[in-house]
Amino acid sequence: MTTKIGCHVGMNSKELFLGSAKEAVSYGADLFMLYTGAPQNTRRKPIEELNLDAGFAYMNKYHLSDPIVHASYIINLANSIKSETFSLGVEFLASELERTRAMHSTILVLHPGSHVDAGAKAGIKKTVEGLNEVLSADTKVYIALETMAGKGSEIGKSFEELAEIYDGVVHNQKLRICFDTCHVNDAGYDIVNGFDEVIDKFDHLIGKNQIAVFHINDSKNPCGSKKDRHENIGFGTIGYEALHHIVYHKDFLEIPKILETPYVTAKEGQEEKTLPPYQYELTMLRSGKFDEKLIEKIRKGKKN
Ligand code: FE
Ligand code: FE
Ligand code: ZN
Repeated sequence: MTTKIGCHVGMNSKELFLGSAKEAVSYGADLFMLYTGAPQNTRRKPIEELNLDAGFAYMNKYHLSDPIVHASYIINLANSIKSETFSLGVEFLASELERTRAMHSTILVLHPGSHVDAGAKAGIKKTVEGLNEVLSADTKVYIALETMAGKGSEIGKSFEELAEIYDGVVHNQKLRICFDTCHVNDAGYDIVNGFDEVIDKFDHLIGKNQIAVFHINDSKNPCGSKKDRHENIGFGTIGYEALHHIVYHKDFLEIPKILETPYVTAKEGQEEKTLPPYQYELTMLRSGKFDEKLIEKIRKGKKN
């Protein structure tokens, strides 16, 4: 059985988009996800300066699939309190859609937003309003609403809330879902003992064919903790078996999977986590066998 699995990469080398593609190939990924600039701000280079064509040529040579784009965290469509935040979000989201298209991607992952004390109802209403401003019948990119952990005032922490957004959006054929395993676990769905039941519930409310991408992350916290802290594959509360089951689930083999697990320390005693775990985690997921010595190997910088 095969499925496409890759990871989040940066775009901060001199080679920009080409550098992102090279990073993905260095891990043995089938595809990658990237931000169009720093996730925390809205400073963006013009599309012509992103070195896209060199990146596409490289991707072609190494058989990488089309990338997934993640929208900036600055966008908060659910903010009904500060109108500047909302209008900046709408405007910036529209430009993220253009960059996504330019990167030959059809999927822009978006956090549905935080209601900032106005309550989930008000937040959802505002997010719907924002999506309706941005989406039209001929939008060429899907906006994949991410399932959220429910930390702070996040909306999208339940399938019901995501379904409500679908209900309000006029061109909801342009919506999809990004199913983040850490977030869904932290939100309180038991994907360890009952992934199929969780998917059944999702299917009734939204439709399982709406899942356009999975974020495959273990979690540092128990089911229902509402925390959102990602852990390396097999080292958290979800565990290797459950994550492997999801990655190779027969209903989702066609759906891309992206790792967003944390960097680890490169050697014993080092404080900063500077080493990406992706090469090892991808190998481990594909092999079907959990390797408990993984982190040790990563720290020693060994390949096998
Ligand atoms: Fe996200
Ligand atoms: Fe995620
Ligand atoms: Zn997260």
